[in-house]
Amino acid sequence: MPARLIDGKAIAADVRREVGDRVRALGERGTMPGLATVLVGEDPGSKVYVANKRKACAEVGIKAWDHDLPASTPEGQLLDLLEGLNEDQAVSGILVQLPLPEHVDEPKVLNAVDPDKDADGFHPRNLGRLLAGDPLVAPATPAGIQQLLVRSNVEIDGAEVVIVGRSNIVGKPLAALLMQKGAGANATVTVCHTGTADLSAHTRRADILVAAMGRPKVVTAPMISEGAVVIDVGINRTENGLVGDVDFDAAREVASAITPVPGGVGPMTIAMLLHNVATLAERARS
Ligand code: NAP
Repeated sequence: MPARLIDGKAIAADVRREVGDRVRALGERGTMPGLATVLVGEDPGSKVYVANKRKACAEVGIKAWDHDLPASTPEGQLLDLLEGLNEDQAVSGILVQLPLPEHVDEPKVLNAVDPDKDADGFHPRNLGRLLAGDPLVAPATPAGIQQLLVRSNVEIDGAEVVIVGRSNIVGKPLAALLMQKGAGANATVTVCHTGTADLSAHTRRADILVAAMGRPKVVTAPMISEGAVVIDVGINRTENGLVGDVDFDAAREVASAITPVPGGVGPMTIAMLLHNVATLAERARS
């Protein structure tokens, strides 16, 4: 029987509704959450992502400030902008769209965001808190994956989770989230990468397999154990359109549940960003 589809669109809509309720409750207490987005340059993918994030903010009642800067913007100007946003009481969250142009020191810019306004959860203090099991906000994509699993009633506690990809925005924070002792976690986590000697030997052990490589259809059916849950984070633009890191049609015959691309992890990333902004606004108010 083909695997059941984990519907990221529907689950993200639930999360957005919940955020909308929290935003209304904040409004009744006189606080309007606001997200400042900073986009440097003309990367078409980044422009689409930022436009989607701004639209999603408007839909749940989060105010959005758009800072679109040319690719040639000096690093100092970007740091000055962030300093102003850090001090602006009306701004609850700040998002700097990555990647930044090459002349800009990315870690330096991420460190310049006030950790209490860090909507993406990329500041080292927030990543440290996540690792310590006391997160303020978690990076949106890994947090979205955890919610997809929890809300689809996938048992994480005690599961063998194998994550392929160790980026700072997906693989590493997801491992930190799912290995914690607590609800919606408590998994045994393996993180694979290009240095992994025998990738299939690991992926075949997975009860939950997360593909986050950015390589089209690299995860094939023989790499998946019968009945595993497969989460495909990859977004690859090919001549046949958008595809994930998993060979979806073949994997669906082996897995018990699987996320589609598009319509799986992607919508959850935006929903969890909104969730983070609401969390930061609630915290700033309390
Ligand atoms: P990234 O920074 O390029 O990291 C890719 C990771 O995959 C690296 O750790 C790399 O290993 C590993 N890798 C690549 N090829 C591999 C292979 N053949 N075997 C084993 N490991 C391999 O990518 P990212 O930013 O994490 O993004 C990954 C994918 O997710 C991309 O397609 C991206 O577009 C997508 N994404 C989607 C969302 C969403 O909302 N749906 C959000 C973020 C990212 P090394 O470390 O050894 O190089």
